[in-house]
Amino acid sequence: MLSKRVALVTGASRGIGRAIAIALAEDGLFVIVNFTANEAAAAETLEACKDKGGEGALLRFDVADAEQVEKAIKQIATEHGRLDVLVNNAGIAINGLLMRTKKEDWARTLDVDLSGAFHCAKAAARYLLKAEHGRVVNISSVVGEQGNAGQVSYAAAKAGLIGMTKALARELASRAVTVNCVTPGFIETDMTDEHLPKEAREGLLKQIPLGRIGRPEDVAEAVRFLVSSRASYITGQVVRVNGGLLM
Ligand code: NAP
Repeated sequence: MLSKRVALVTGASRGIGRAIAIALAEDGLFVIVNFTANEAAAAETLEACKDKGGEGALLRFDVADAEQVEKAIKQIATEHGRLDVLVNNAGIAINGLLMRTKKEDWARTLDVDLSGAFHCAKAAARYLLKAEHGRVVNISSVVGEQGNAGQVSYAAAKAGLIGMTKALARELASRAVTVNCVTPGFIETDMTDEHLPKEAREGLLKQIPLGRIGRPEDVAEAVRFLVSSRASYITGQVVRVNGGLLM
């Protein structure tokens, strides 16, 4: 069994997940870098973790596929003997106004963004309960709190994640496992690059009191804290990292 705490960060090949993986590795956790398609990017994340003096491993699986998740988490337990921290970060956004949203796109968004976290939490629970201070952090979104035109499926999935966080926090509290949710505002990643046209970006900046789009590291700092022993009395909470966009 590894002496270090082991953390699984889903969707850690790019963006926010990558920044979280690096922060946790820097704090001395052994980080499992999950990805689904982009192996080269995942390998870069792992290299960046090592540059910070950390350790970790790559693990490809699709969070939406319950069987793959189950197998992957068993593999972590077999190879490393423990799983202390789960960060449900993997997510997609398939945008479009309601009347143009295909039911396949609705289903895929819910499958990845909401069921993905459920599959991972379910498979990880038995190991988290054995951990000294198990931690789950779910990456939701400001869109799950306040909605957004053109993101009906994404908003539904991200709001669902908030409910799931609170239910799970209550279920796991007796064994000192904390479950929290982070709701980022607009963060500079491939996701916002793809979905945010220049004019929308400028309009958005005007609504952010701190006057800038967030960086993946802004979100990673909140996760770093929630995962630490310093946050042992915080559970079932929604931690906003949004530059003041929503208060
Ligand atoms: P991103 O840059 O698009 O990266 C998405 C990550 O998720 C990639 O590592 C991708 O892996 C992985 N992924 C996608 N589908 C997956 C699946 N089925 N199974 C496993 N991994 C999968 O996204 P991001 O902006 O960093 O967002 C990360 C999380 O923060 C998401 O949950 C997102 O909804 C949330 N969020 C983002 C923002 C924002 O402004 N960016 C705001 C609020 C919330 P591959 O590289 O292999 O494709």
